[in-house]
Amino acid sequence: MSSALPLGSVRPTRYVFDRAPMLVYWEMTRACPLACRHCRAEAVLRRGDRELTTAEGERLLDQVVAFGRPLPHLVLTGGDPLQRPDLFHLAREATARGIGVSLAPSATEQLTPGVIAEARQAGVASMSLSLDGSTAGRHDTFRGVPGTFAATMRAADLIRAAGIALQVNTLVTDETVDDLPATFELLRGLGIVRWSLFFLIGVGRGAVLREVTPIRSERLFAWLLDLEPVSSFAIKTTEATHYRRVAATRMRRAGMSRDAIERTPVGRGFGVRDGNGIVFVGHDGVVHPSGFLPIPCGDVRSATLVDTYRTHPLFVALRDARSFDGKCGACPYALICGGSRARAYARTGDPLASDPLCPYVPSNRVAAWERLA
Ligand code: SF4
Repeated sequence: MSSALPLGSVRPTRYVFDRAPMLVYWEMTRACPLACRHCRAEAVLRRGDRELTTAEGERLLDQVVAFGRPLPHLVLTGGDPLQRPDLFHLAREATARGIGVSLAPSATEQLTPGVIAEARQAGVASMSLSLDGSTAGRHDTFRGVPGTFAATMRAADLIRAAGIALQVNTLVTDETVDDLPATFELLRGLGIVRWSLFFLIGVGRGAVLREVTPIRSERLFAWLLDLEPVSSFAIKTTEATHYRRVAATRMRRAGMSRDAIERTPVGRGFGVRDGNGIVFVGHDGVVHPSGFLPIPCGDVRSATLVDTYRTHPLFVALRDARSFDGKCGACPYALICGGSRARAYARTGDPLASDPLCPYVPSNRVAAWERLA
């Protein structure tokens, strides 16, 4: 067995977030002026009448506080959260409660210098923008509205100038993967703090796009790890947790200690996956394990977010790597990785099935369980 395997063995509960998530995503609205080809939310132009009201939003913030300290970080997303006139009121209410807030707006002409200044005044710690291509032609094709690439570049400059940390999210599909090196070069000049590569899950409008193959994902991971020493920003993957297996294996082979690995950007995310460290509140208050795993587990209007997160049987199962079926359940990396539960669900209808994007096959189930025990 690889020397990386004991990573999951010595402190088996270290990567289990059973008391509180690290991140609460709140889809404030599904309204958005863009029409992205891969939109999870299947966004619409107008706000819906099922959205949480301002008062219900404030109660949701109280529920986030009820998790206790350290408080989870709140990501305000959509649709486009700028479509809600109470956005900055709610952001201020969150920061007043001690909750760290990030904002994921759509890059439209509504994202003005004044709006970005207001975000900063409301205490927004970071903002994210999506960039799915290195050129206007590529990006605007995905976003569905001409001019979005230019708007994104403009917004990136404004956010950086306002002193707000900027993350860029890039979709990884069969169509975008060859453009990633050019996208990386573009990002080097944008002053970002993090590049998050989101590996397509076939939900929402994204169901018509093609994922990369498992082998291609492994090659991509190797390239991303090669970039680490020359990159001025952190690189992470979303819905591709097996990046942690590849990264941990490489770092152990390079002689790094477990503690040193856990302090790296990839190590700080060990264990985090749909329902384990992540919870998603839909525009209508319905709670899901993540935005890409659309199984309703509760409703913040009728039950508390804390109870749903801690006790709903699906959340409990998603935090228990031993409950996973197939090779993910037998994998010695399950504690730090666990696979994308969202992809397992999208492909098989079972959120506890193996992640079909990972080509790794554990060789010895018994030995693997000994390491998890
Ligand atoms: S088999 Fe599953 S748990 Fe193991 S590395 Fe692959 S995705 Fe992760």
